Amino acid sequence: MKAVAIMFPSREVRVLDVPEPKLHSPTQVKVRTLEVGVCGTDQDILKGHHGEAPRGEDHLILGHECLGEVMEVGAHVQGLKPGDLVVPRVRRPCPHAHCPACRHGHPDFCVTGDYTERGIKGAHGFCSEHFVEDAAYLHKAEDSLRGVAVLTEPLTIAEKGLREVAHIQSRLPWKLSPGKALVLGAGPVAQLGAMALMRAGFDVTVYSRSPKPNEKAAAAEAMGAPYISSKEVTVEALKKQLGGVDVIYEATGASKVAFDSLQVLGENGVLIFTGVPGREEPLELQGDQVMGQLVLGNRVMFGTVNASDGDFREALEDLARFRAKWPGRLEALITQRHPPSEFAKVVEAKGGIKHVISFQEHAR
Ligand SMILES: [Zn+2]
Ligand SMILES: [Zn+2]
Repeated sequence: MKAVAIMFPSREVRVLDVPEPKLHSPTQVKVRTLEVGVCGTDQDILKGHHGEAPRGEDHLILGHECLGEVMEVGAHVQGLKPGDLVVPRVRRPCPHAHCPACRHGHPDFCVTGDYTERGIKGAHGFCSEHFVEDAAYLHKAEDSLRGVAVLTEPLTIAEKGLREVAHIQSRLPWKLSPGKALVLGAGPVAQLGAMALMRAGFDVTVYSRSPKPNEKAAAAEAMGAPYISSKEVTVEALKKQLGGVDVIYEATGASKVAFDSLQVLGENGVLIFTGVPGREEPLELQGDQVMGQLVLGNRVMFGTVNASDGDFREALEDLARFRAKWPGRLEALITQRHPPSEFAKVVEAKGGIKHVISFQEHAR
């Protein structure tokens, strides 16, 4: 079967002909890949910041944001049958008995670093015609989500982040109304984060680089989140305009914007970092200022990576809610579908919001 892989050490992306995967245990499921989302993590892998082949192999099959269709189920699999749509999780637990996170079903909080991630670190991804996965790592998606469920994985970032915000804010001894949120960036993770925040009841403003008009601004405003360009409105001016916000959802990977935005974070507010910095912009941090802002306003900053079983379930439920609340808006986040052979080109694509590799339209 056909698979899109990165070769090591050359980091060249190739379409390989690899053996068809087979079920090796009664709890496994064979899946036909329908779509694979491409994101900044893939870009980092191609650039060499990230990415590791499975032990003993010279290539890594790419793709970690996936929607597939069940082809075959092992004898012990319950709740899945051929034809069902499924979304796989990405991270698999480390083998160490002393890792409390992995031993408690939360490899997203792994403390040893010896986890694997399909399509990213030490395990093949989903950008192949078929793949085999244990049913425990697959989530059934409703048929009505066929056109948008490839967005599940990027949405799980927001689901996990918002769950943690709720934990943190349970420290306040009164019932908090959601209040105001600022989303930094306007790419897919930011747009999905804005939707999740609005769904949770926040008044959301999107703050990103490009001046209007542009398609990302249009996407945000079409769902009711005002878009402000950081080229036109400084952080200081933004603070005057919005007052202090309760939550900042960072989805740019730009450390300067993220730390500058602390000025807009209100008393008792929470700043969530989701982006991995691109190592391009050196940052001079005013440590005293940051520390003062945190201490004197009970502010919290935290980072979040990957997501758990519950976050995937929540994301799939939210996709259905978003489709009902904003008809056509999720679909509009997917700019274009491309054939698998264009993976490397798509990673470098400028413009648009989300680019997706489609196996159904192009592979056969
Ligand atoms: Zn991704
Ligand atoms: Zn672990």
